Amino acid sequence: MGRIVLERGREKSLLRRHPWVFSGAVGAVHGAPGPGETVEVVAANGLVLGRGAFSPRSQIAVRMWSFDPDEAIDGAFFRRRIERALATREPVPPDEEPAGRRLVNAESDGLPGVVVDRYGPFLVCQLLSAGAERFREEIVAALGDLLSPAGVYERSDGEGREKEGLASATGLLAGEEPPERVEIREGPCRFRVDVRAGHKTGFYLDQRENRALVARYAAGARVLNAFAYTGGFGLAAQAAGAAAVTHIESSAALLDEIRTNAEASGLGPPGGSAAEYVEGNVFSILRAFRAEERRFDLVVLDPPKFAESRSRVEAAARGYKDINLLACQLLAPGGLLATFSCSGVLEAALFGKIVADAALDAGRDGRILRRFNQAPDHPVALAFPEGRYLKGLLCRVW
Ligand code: SAH
Repeated sequence: MGRIVLERGREKSLLRRHPWVFSGAVGAVHGAPGPGETVEVVAANGLVLGRGAFSPRSQIAVRMWSFDPDEAIDGAFFRRRIERALATREPVPPDEEPAGRRLVNAESDGLPGVVVDRYGPFLVCQLLSAGAERFREEIVAALGDLLSPAGVYERSDGEGREKEGLASATGLLAGEEPPERVEIREGPCRFRVDVRAGHKTGFYLDQRENRALVARYAAGARVLNAFAYTGGFGLAAQAAGAAAVTHIESSAALLDEIRTNAEASGLGPPGGSAAEYVEGNVFSILRAFRAEERRFDLVVLDPPKFAESRSRVEAAARGYKDINLLACQLLAPGGLLATFSCSGVLEAALFGKIVADAALDAGRDGRILRRFNQAPDHPVALAFPEGRYLKGLLCRVW
């Protein structure tokens, strides 16, 4: 086994079980390990800290598999880790099936670079690190043993692979091909998920609980669902009795997915409340709505990640400020703003300040009713605070 000897003092984060060894912390590499190979990580004083996956091309030179210096990294290891991830989660009541759930959340489940989502009987995996790539067979075999899925599909086309020197990889890994759309239910709604080409592994599972929480405030409301994707928040609000829902989405194809999901959820015409589908850029549509003096009782802002890295935080902050300011201006007095950021590098405290500045500039008086997090099937390891990325606020705005 290769050996990585750390620079003096750089073992501190590992002693706290943080799973990353940055390339700058590496003093010496012994044994010429290849990408994804398991290496022993040793402090400068000779203390063996554990085992991890070597990634020579990445700024993160090693991702730790285990802090037990004697634990073998093999099929049985992946099985144990996946078993623990499954036991970490709440069971899904049978009447909530077919459900969508994250089963393995990478670093936060002790499996750096490994994401596994379940859509009904199908599993969708992302293998995003050199180590995950190396052990793909073991991981897929363990998933088959533990979960007997109808099929396992790979969506390793997310960000991250490139930084690890890996090409993107998609396709069937085991069992049968998933159908064109895999239907899941979420509360009263049905979503037909495109696991092959949808964002992430097909659906924003991390917002599941937040969609249900926001829907509690939707009865009778005129709802604006900005950054709609396949309808998530808007359909939940409609099912909860919203008076009208306006979806804004830049992709026309996604607006069609919303229509399909509305119909699958029994919300399509003629039964459901009024729905409006607006194709375009949220930044300019909100300005147009402001010029038209349109008003809403509940505005949901769930934009994509504006900040990909620390150097982008300032530019991202301007974007968040802009849409939150516009949303405040569009809210009727006493209306509700449900606003989110999934930029991990933009911390919750800064996000709160941005929303406060936006309300101030809009001349509106807001108060926080709820703080949102990512759903509990996206847990955050105590030793890995970077695992928290999604945050949001529900504000009453006067
Ligand atoms: N709220 C959704 C997830 C939103 S993901 C849910 O609960 O499922 C963000 C969405 O915003 C994506 O579908 C993307 O296509 C869309 N989008 C990104 N930038 C946009 C823009 N400037 N204007 C309109 N839509 C945008």
